[in-house]
Amino acid sequence: MTFADLGLSDKLLQAVETAGYSEPTPIQAEAIPAILMMKDLIGIAQTGTGKTASFVLPMIDVLDNGRRRALMPRSLILEPTRELAAQVAENFEKYGANHDLKMALLIGGVQMGDQLKALNEGVDVLIATPGRLMDLFERGKIMLNGCELLVIDEADRMLDMGFIPDIEFICSKLPATRQTMLFSATMPPVIKKLADKFLTNPKQIEV
Ligand code: AMP
Repeated sequence: MTFADLGLSDKLLQAVETAGYSEPTPIQAEAIPAILMMKDLIGIAQTGTGKTASFVLPMIDVLDNGRRRALMPRSLILEPTRELAAQVAENFEKYGANHDLKMALLIGGVQMGDQLKALNEGVDVLIATPGRLMDLFERGKIMLNGCELLVIDEADRMLDMGFIPDIEFICSKLPATRQTMLFSATMPPVIKKLADKFLTNPKQIEV
């Protein structure tokens, strides 16, 4: 299996080559074609398996076609911590260096003013921790009804940190027709229930 077999664009194949990856990891080999085919996905995988690139690479291809609108992020990635959110942002910058995609990071501990300015200019990829996103909802500063792609990353850590009610609220603010990807190292019953509620006929991958 090579990256070229997965359906990624030539532009992204170049980015993968620049990153120095010779072949996809098992989760990438299964997740990338499914995401490009717009399927919902449950990925049971630890960090270190190449899980981040398994959603970032196909998302860049999906988002590369389409237009931004102010205040309406086109995709949302939820991360349990600021550090993980920042890492995912770095991945988008690395693989998407030759793409015209706008990204915004909504995390705590950073002044909200700059984050709001970025949002107002239109965003392709919004990477957020649930706390800060809820804060913006409460202030009426954000709309997610144009958001067609959702990633819930590290769902079991979200559970440990008490974020499940926030995630349920956030999911209810996105269009029902969106594509949803959920990643978790383990699948406790609460996460299984969350997936049953918010994903549609998902492909499940376990590595
Ligand atoms: P992750 O599981 O997303 O935290 O990724 C772990 C590490 O694997 C990161 O440092 C990536 O740069 C690296 N990586 C991701 N995909 C590949 C690949 N196909 N081949 C080699 N390294 C990779």
